[in-house]
Amino acid sequence: MSDKEKKLIYVDNAATTKVSKSVIEAMLPYMETYYGNPSSQLYSLGREAKAALEKARQGVAELLGCDANEIIFTSGGTEADNWAIKGTAYATKGRHIITSKIEHHAILHTLDALIKQGFEVTYLDVYDNGIVRPEDLEKAIREDTILITVMYANNEIGTIQPIKALAEIARKHKIPFFTDAVQAVGKLPINVKELGVDMLSLSGHKIHAPKGIGALYIRKGVRLSNLIEGGGQERGKRSGTENVAGVIALEQALREAVADLTDKDKVGKLRDYLADKLIKIPYSRINGDIKNRLDENLNMSFEFIEGEGLIMLLDMNGICASTGSACSTSSLEPSHVLRALGLPHEICHGSLRISLSADNTFEEMDYIAEKVTWAVNRLRMMSPLYERKLKEERSK
Ligand code: PLP
Repeated sequence: MSDKEKKLIYVDNAATTKVSKSVIEAMLPYMETYYGNPSSQLYSLGREAKAALEKARQGVAELLGCDANEIIFTSGGTEADNWAIKGTAYATKGRHIITSKIEHHAILHTLDALIKQGFEVTYLDVYDNGIVRPEDLEKAIREDTILITVMYANNEIGTIQPIKALAEIARKHKIPFFTDAVQAVGKLPINVKELGVDMLSLSGHKIHAPKGIGALYIRKGVRLSNLIEGGGQERGKRSGTENVAGVIALEQALREAVADLTDKDKVGKLRDYLADKLIKIPYSRINGDIKNRLDENLNMSFEFIEGEGLIMLLDMNGICASTGSACSTSSLEPSHVLRALGLPHEICHGSLRISLSADNTFEEMDYIAEKVTWAVNRLRMMSPLYERKLKEERSK
């Protein structure tokens, strides 16, 4: 192991997670020994793969509180999100869809594509705490509304939406309700029947399974056009040879995540411990509702700095964190989630997202607090705006 690997502190679990050893162990036999194609039913190697696939489907269904034939495996969250939205839009008469302003781009960009095809979208406000109000949903519903899609937990600020209340409104109006639960699954207890949702998406790599596997829960009776045509796998809805090892991994990871839910207190304590230290940095704030958010999430803004600069300095010190938004990759636009909270540009730009897992420790939180404090100070020393602020403060 290199020095860098030894010292690495990974607090970007909302981006992806380390595949757990037990998950690797569970999936290995389906690459090395039982590697048959589940469609090869004429010999035992294929039948074994098929049996394992269906057993895992049953396991995932039980863990989510639904029937096995209501689970379709996908390549991940983005695919499941695209499918739930486009599949509904193409299978239903009507042109209006309701969503929130803080959805993941897998939702927002899918809706953009539909808008180009003539659909209309209403974006629900999330106010300054990052949470949708059910009464706003009630008001937004139209005669031609065909779908309501609101995420369960936000990937940047961790806020948790009142999904049960929103789904109830949708049901009252007989409109399908879909929730992107990619960040919520494995972190919150989930029973799709109790929640009352019609569709729910999840992704393996957010819960210590590998990348490239996800699922869509589709309640029996929901009309959805097929996603991929081909050999008729996944009951003809999503063709393509199944990712057997990935499915086995997903079921194992989900089982472990659900079992670990009882032990969630630890992650929340780590997060609060770190937050208490970081909030001492002047001109800092915590973004999103303090109560209704994932225990794993801490999203903060530090004025007079750029989040990207902060992430780079933290990386130099072996810490993997994120600004929370995709702006570092392709554009300098501030996060649409922080903008939706009504925060001004300069605060949006200085954001830091820490997303924890049960593998993190208090010692790591101490180290992160020390390095963030150092990095914010260092960046501010280079900021003419901060210098001006200090002058103003002194002259008061
Ligand atoms: N939805 C949310 C809320 C997410 O956070 C992500 C990934 O970050 C996705 C969808 C996309 O999932 P995947 O990476 O499995 O395609």
